[in-house]
Amino acid sequence: MFVSPAEIDNDNLREICNKSFLADEFDDESFVPVKKLGSAFIAELFHGPTFCFKDMGMRPVIRFLSYFATLRNKPATLLVSTTGDTGPAAVHAVSAVANPLLTIIVHYPHGQISDFQRKQMTTMDSKCVKVVSFEGGGDDMDWPIKETLMKNNDEGTGRTYCGINSYNIGRPLVQMVHFIWIYLRMAEHLGVEPGDKNRLIDMVIPTGAMGNITGGYMAKQMGVPIGMLCAGVNINDISHRVIDRGEFHRKRIEQTLSDAINIEVPYNFERIAFYNTGSNHVLIKEWMITMEQTQQLTLESMWLKRLKKDFRSARITDEEMCNALRKAHDTLNYVADPHTAVAMAAAEKLGYGFNTKPSLDQEMMPVVMLATASPCKFQKAVTVALGVDGWTQWVIDSFPPSAENTLRMEENEPFHYPQKEGTPLGEVQTMWREMMIDIVNNNF
Ligand SMILES: *Cc1c(COP(=O)(O)O)cnc(C)c1O
Repeated sequence: MFVSPAEIDNDNLREICNKSFLADEFDDESFVPVKKLGSAFIAELFHGPTFCFKDMGMRPVIRFLSYFATLRNKPATLLVSTTGDTGPAAVHAVSAVANPLLTIIVHYPHGQISDFQRKQMTTMDSKCVKVVSFEGGGDDMDWPIKETLMKNNDEGTGRTYCGINSYNIGRPLVQMVHFIWIYLRMAEHLGVEPGDKNRLIDMVIPTGAMGNITGGYMAKQMGVPIGMLCAGVNINDISHRVIDRGEFHRKRIEQTLSDAINIEVPYNFERIAFYNTGSNHVLIKEWMITMEQTQQLTLESMWLKRLKKDFRSARITDEEMCNALRKAHDTLNYVADPHTAVAMAAAEKLGYGFNTKPSLDQEMMPVVMLATASPCKFQKAVTVALGVDGWTQWVIDSFPPSAENTLRMEENEPFHYPQKEGTPLGEVQTMWREMMIDIVNNNF
């Protein structure tokens, strides 16, 4: 429905899908297991090669980009800056396709990602991948990348530059698939006839840039009987404030233990708003201009009411997250990563009460929580919640073997973009952009 057969025929489409989800790259035979957990359910989206749900969207999208680079015989370079799980997922996906026409430069702020996340990138040995650390804050590479995407694509350099954060529509498009999958597994668990519109399934999603929940909303728009889409957010709570009271107001980032969902402005809200207003593109354009100019958008009550028909949300502090993580461990013997624990705490706050005995309500309103990462990526947060002993025990019992490999492998020194003492950020960013283009011109 989203790519015409004139652009990609069924055989190639099928091959891309199959290769994106190879059994030997996932450490669970059902790819996304949906399990009973207390009186609720949990859908584990982290069994891919980088232990995070980002593999689900990233792998097919990068195969598509590789396919089109070859078809057009035009090289493509992906540009990413990340503090989280996007970088590792992208780097792995690009090295897996091993197409000389498809390269990636992945940037991270020096010292500001976890050791495990860094190692997932620096241990990859691929001619198509350049890993760069830069001396700056989390989003200081956003401008050089944005500028390059806008300028260099127009200049006819014979190369496509492409961003692959979840503003790339391919990501939420592909992410619809796991929502459909989770719905179908839930229908099996509950003995619901697939497609029964009277038995909707509510879902709780750890939410940052809203890319994952947008995939869920698009699946719902297409007719999948999904009930409420519930966003679990940390104290960087703009998504909660807009769903709860219509306030899409920018606020400064605060550090948390669930840092993959520390988001200042979730750009996918634009897509949610678009569908939620019946594809009112004139209105959405106005809204986004208001947001850009004033950093604040306040929804009128009519629109807020509409948003609340499909969405719920809860704001979870680090303390509440740790409590949920501990409770799931103590009562259900389940160890979650901090982002999944945000969803667990959110489920509880919204009254789903997954830890308690099922009430009649819950029998009628079954909920599934999306688990977005393996605990193996988040030693620090899991240790804060469960103590050193809790972490150590989990490592002994459950640490994934391929994650152990990553930790043992030799790291390649990343390329580095320096700061210059006393130079304004704008000038430094211009220099970084030149260094980035040099990498491409010198064939990595
Ligand atoms: C990226 C990420 C999220 C948030 O997903 P969005 O699409 O940005 O809302 C949640 N959990 C983990 C572990 C992530 O890496």
